[in-house]
Amino acid sequence: MRSWHFNHIDFSTYPHYPGEDLGVHLTPGATTFRLWAPTALEVELRLFDNGENGEPLKVTGMKKEKNGTWAHTEKGDLENLFYTFKVNDGEWLHEVPDPYARAVGINGIRGMIVDLAKTNPEGWEKDKGPALRKFTDWIIYELHVRDFSIAESSGMRHKGKYLAFTEKNTRSSLGEKTGLDHLKELGITHVHLLPVFDFQSVDEEKPLRKYNWGYDPQNYNAPEGSYSTDPYDGKVRIRELKSLVKSLHDEGIGVIMDVVYNHTWLTKGSVFNQTVPGYFYRQNHDGSFSNASGCGNEIASERSMVRKFIVDSLKYWISEYHIDGFRFDLMGILDLETMRVIREEMDRINPGILLYGEGWAADWSPMPEEKRAVKRNVKQMPGIAVFNDDIRDALKGNHSQKSTRGFVSGLGLREEAVKFGVVAATWHPQIVYNYVESSHEPWADEPSQCINYVSCHDNFTLYDKLNMSVQKATPEQLRRMVKLAGAVILTSQGIPFLHAGSEFCRTKNGNGNSYNAPDSVNQIDWVRKSVYRDVFDYYSKLIALRKNHPVFRLETSEKIRASLNFCIQYQVGVVSYCIKGEGTGDVWKLVVLVFNANVTPVTVPVPEGEFRIIIREDQISEAGLGNFSGESIEVPPRSLLMLAR
Ligand code: CA
Repeated sequence: MRSWHFNHIDFSTYPHYPGEDLGVHLTPGATTFRLWAPTALEVELRLFDNGENGEPLKVTGMKKEKNGTWAHTEKGDLENLFYTFKVNDGEWLHEVPDPYARAVGINGIRGMIVDLAKTNPEGWEKDKGPALRKFTDWIIYELHVRDFSIAESSGMRHKGKYLAFTEKNTRSSLGEKTGLDHLKELGITHVHLLPVFDFQSVDEEKPLRKYNWGYDPQNYNAPEGSYSTDPYDGKVRIRELKSLVKSLHDEGIGVIMDVVYNHTWLTKGSVFNQTVPGYFYRQNHDGSFSNASGCGNEIASERSMVRKFIVDSLKYWISEYHIDGFRFDLMGILDLETMRVIREEMDRINPGILLYGEGWAADWSPMPEEKRAVKRNVKQMPGIAVFNDDIRDALKGNHSQKSTRGFVSGLGLREEAVKFGVVAATWHPQIVYNYVESSHEPWADEPSQCINYVSCHDNFTLYDKLNMSVQKATPEQLRRMVKLAGAVILTSQGIPFLHAGSEFCRTKNGNGNSYNAPDSVNQIDWVRKSVYRDVFDYYSKLIALRKNHPVFRLETSEKIRASLNFCIQYQVGVVSYCIKGEGTGDVWKLVVLVFNANVTPVTVPVPEGEFRIIIREDQISEAGLGNFSGESIEVPPRSLLMLAR
């Protein structure tokens, strides 16, 4: 019996292979295979005519080559055949595709040999993402491929599929724009897709039987099959995911991929462990697999061939799929050095690729926290952002509890944490950091290191959380709170991030962890866009305002400190500040924002001179809702008032 404890192994002695040719490469007349398997004594390559069953067409012993790799070149036309490798390191392991598999058959069991050029949609060679000058210009919209279209009310034909993103002029049953048209109408700049690499939990033969977010990686370099119209043919999922990207790019919307390099779904059975047992994972002191992901294992990103795998994988998604940015799941598990190397490698390709992640782990890791990419270490990762969970919880209350409230739901003493979000978690002399509940210090050096959000796929939706935590809230009060939360996120410095559907009060009926809940819970119900049309209008106008006014998208923390001044006078449930437009490129000279989270109106002092009223309650007008001059102004309950001149 094989031992799955690794106390006796010094993985740093394993050879490093620097080549760019790992995996399978089809050329006219021959196909080359190269697998890094330094502990193997024998490696078999097996070729098949299908992706799931039957005897191999051919079994070939591979040849041991330099730096721990095994290679083979097979002459003839292998296009559209399937393959696996089988490693013997003293005992035979299971047959698996290689970690670099770019195309796979049904359920990712076997790799597929494809001509990638044949998977390109028409016009792909000219395809490009939006060119935004700086990361603070981005407005991110977090979306699950299936949730987007699966509801009856979506009006889309390719329900639950990549191809739904290519449909135009779709309407809900009540006549509202849905799908791609909705994204354009809302005005976001980038769609962040929950996992679209091949994951394990949904049976691709019967995709509607189960649902999953997809944080259960199987093959990192191949697309998920359940979202394709033919999961048996590895080329189809590739072409359809590229079509999704192109369709968004054609509308000027960028595509961010959610990547989950922190763990694999299977541990002993994973492609990694069936190729080089133990190497790709961290271990506890007793040699067993450690579990900072809470999913049974954690990737040892610091080992040289793991780091190389992650970097190669990211580069591949950029070159082959034109991906514009990456969101790292449980980034706090990955080591700092790997994240810095990733930033350097991305910069070589395109410095405009956004990198951000969850600055935490789910459990204890044998790697000390000071070496990992957690939130408090973000200053050691220039050019990389993390989620601002401080503003998230300050606005709506603790993310995991039903009953706790936050700033928008009327809890006092959250004002400093809201201000902390306003300046994108950077240092500002007018913030009392001791009052910022979870982080008592500014963790970001620059606003481009802070993703401001109030809700995402995890935990309760914003609407559900407010509905559960505010006793006897009326529908009107709930709308006001959802709008106020959006107003903070979309006017604050940093990079704003919206959970899909939050702009029309998305509900999961109180489900706080819907990762495998049915479509009835997770689907975006487009009927709500009609019901909450006022909330949608408010969000879309805020987005337009943000895009039109550079004062909300300042590039450096120095500029924020020089331009943004909080009104010192403290009032419970009120945050107010002024931003000077001078030197920011904004047409406005001065903007005054007052967020009143109280259920009653408040009166606040106003700087001298004439202003236009830009936002009052539901109304937003850049041309102005009217003029104002005076010493003080009344701000309606639970709303943002914005003045400008
Ligand atoms: Ca899959």
